[in-house]
Amino acid sequence: MSDAKGQIQRLKLVGGALCLDFANTTGWRPDPGDEEYLRDYEDVVVWAALAGAASETEARRLLRRAKSDPERARAVHARAVALREALYRILSASAAGHLAGSRDIDAVNQVVHDAYRHLCIAPHDGGFAWEWDGARDALELPLWKVARSAADLLVSSELRRVRECSGHRCDWLFLDASRNRSRRWCDMANCGNRAKARRNYERRREITARVGEARGA
Ligand SMILES: [Zn+2]
Repeated sequence: MSDAKGQIQRLKLVGGALCLDFANTTGWRPDPGDEEYLRDYEDVVVWAALAGAASETEARRLLRRAKSDPERARAVHARAVALREALYRILSASAAGHLAGSRDIDAVNQVVHDAYRHLCIAPHDGGFAWEWDGARDALELPLWKVARSAADLLVSSELRRVRECSGHRCDWLFLDASRNRSRRWCDMANCGNRAKARRNYERRREITARVGEARGA
């Protein structure tokens, strides 16, 4: 286990949609440093369990499978990070009123294709529900769930409510559910307070400078 293990448990889920929380598993792009939460496949599974993309039973099974096939787990981790970054670029561009490049859209579509190939309907509670066919042991399962969440969001009117945090260097994404569409921060306790503290500091510095000028006059 890496030193940073345990860090993922402190990760806040503030996106309001599974795919946004997935995009928020890193920060401070392009130099995340300690803000990288998906350091290996194990992190992907722990995140999935915390964010609701895998049940605890599924998560335990995936971790066992990953242990028996570490090479594949490494490849799926790389796919997870690639999916996350393509998703981030698409959603960040959309939040700024732009369209992302076709390479990113193709990259997400590849995972969307894989995901939908494994979806089926199954009897459930007197009716039917979506299920993942033959995917119990697929290491990609958390990625498929993220891709499905992304596809649902991208084709919906909710896409217009996706915002990128205004915090200094913060690139977290969230759904703005506020009535007047005025949410600016991923998390008031983090970025909101930091911005307030910086404004206070700047105001004090300006006052000190003006007073200093007057004293010198
Ligand atoms: Zn933020």
